[in-house]
Amino acid sequence: MTSTRTALTLQDMGWTAATAAELTDQFNGGEAGYREVKAPFTNSYLYALPLSSDHAVDEAVARARSSQLRWAATKITERIDVMLRFHDLLLRHREDVLDIIQFETGKARRDALEELLDVCVVTQYYARTAKRLLADRAHRGAIPVLTSVREVHHPIGVVGVIAPWNYPLSLALSDAVPAMLAGNAVVVKPDVQTSLTAGWCRRLLREAGLPANVYQLVTGDGPTVGARLIDQVDHVMFTGSSATGRIVAARCGERLISATMELGGKNALIVRADAHVGRAARIAERAVFANSGQLCIAMERIYVDRKLFEPFVEQLRNRVAALKIGTRPGWGSDLGPLINDTHLDRVSGQVEQALAAGATVVSGGQRRPEIGPLVYLPTLLTDVTVGMDLCGQETFGPVASIYVTSDDDHAIQLANDTEYGLNASIVTADVGRGKALARRLNSGSVNINDGYAAAWGSVAAPLGGRGASGLGARHGVAGLLNYTESQTIATQRIWGFSAPAGISDRRWADLLARSVRIMRPLGHRSKGAS
Ligand code: NAD
Repeated sequence: MTSTRTALTLQDMGWTAATAAELTDQFNGGEAGYREVKAPFTNSYLYALPLSSDHAVDEAVARARSSQLRWAATKITERIDVMLRFHDLLLRHREDVLDIIQFETGKARRDALEELLDVCVVTQYYARTAKRLLADRAHRGAIPVLTSVREVHHPIGVVGVIAPWNYPLSLALSDAVPAMLAGNAVVVKPDVQTSLTAGWCRRLLREAGLPANVYQLVTGDGPTVGARLIDQVDHVMFTGSSATGRIVAARCGERLISATMELGGKNALIVRADAHVGRAARIAERAVFANSGQLCIAMERIYVDRKLFEPFVEQLRNRVAALKIGTRPGWGSDLGPLINDTHLDRVSGQVEQALAAGATVVSGGQRRPEIGPLVYLPTLLTDVTVGMDLCGQETFGPVASIYVTSDDDHAIQLANDTEYGLNASIVTADVGRGKALARRLNSGSVNINDGYAAAWGSVAAPLGGRGASGLGARHGVAGLLNYTESQTIATQRIWGFSAPAGISDRRWADLLARSVRIMRPLGHRSKGAS
């Protein structure tokens, strides 16, 4: 394992004080003071984030609301043009955006690039489909021919997007873009650690022609700024931990506003007996250690058929030994440090608890402050048992435990033994069998012969969690219609549903029953139906 290390500040990156100040201007902040943000690469001062006061949150929502109706009234083709210009600007300025993401998160540049590509692919998908998905839809009415009915989609109004620190570009934009395409204004509350990326994007959105105020930012802590935001918006798109998700969902429930919840996971990767060991180890390496494991859809539990267990562990250990840890921005590293001291303590605490209770280290299991103050080595463990936090709780770090399984049924049973249901993976030579097993996994997405990118990148299909992993989904049709309220407009021709004059209720009841029977073949025709 190799590494590079230097001390860094915003200025080292070529940012002048004016640029940094201009960026912080993008926030509705400052009235509530400033918060020191540290760069995870060095765990030292990066910049002071202006924080939003209650008043600033109220103002941001009011500004968003004041702009929303006019934005919704612009033609959908104009809204699409704005988002495609934003997409082009993002690609043109990609090196700057990747720098900012790396500074804020300490992640490897390839992981930052995945975020950028995600936003681009999502924008392209909704640019292609929004017009059709948002168009009015005709349905068969209550009485065919006599009742005509249309389903209409209206924007909800102001959408609050509350995002975590691990994918600051993706999670501030990939949901905001469809929300805005649907005619909503958006107020984003990024994590305190990663607000610069969202601020940078606000600037790009303005340059792309987005009217002022349609995309607002507020900054600060979740329980204060986040809660104040929830109390005023019309829909919440929340991405974060399951624990916070429960609080946010309860608050949305009190207000009877809709919410989409994208939460934590304890994702399982199954290696079947027929898998190619080298391929399985390669898939597992990326699936576990992408973004230093600080990825909701990363794999934390690996279930390997007993026939392959030893060669698989050996090959994965060799791959992990070759991983390059980076502690400065730029290409060439495979993973970076963790986000902050608290998270490092949490991750290493789970490993230490497991080791004390009998788990075995295959690889890693240590902090490496001489490489970087927040570096934790990529870690593989065996002999992890039920009852250890590492077995059941989300770790959200570069740590996976490897378990032996006796057959497919055993692997499925263990993989499903969790309150989470976010993502899963099956490595197999028999894709047909893999697909059949996938249906038995209690997981919102399952990747066959891949860890997470296949499902994440397939943005035409919904991506969401079951159980403690969330409610609803992003991507696909739902990822746009989540931000609309449907309305049914039904028009009745000739006569209505009450008995016409001169027809008794009894006769009318007979007529209605006969009509309903005549309509029966229009539905499902089962064997023996009369
Ligand atoms: P977190 O729940 O601590 O915070 C997420 C966001 O919620 C932050 O902006 C935070 O300030 C805000 N928040 C905190 N308390 C709040 C409250 N009471 N009211 C309103 N907002 C509040 O999560 P985190 O530690 O920042 O992120 C890591 C978690 O996010 C992991 O569990 C990970 O699995 C999950 N995640 C899920 C997905 C997904 O798509 N399912 C994607 C990325 C991350």
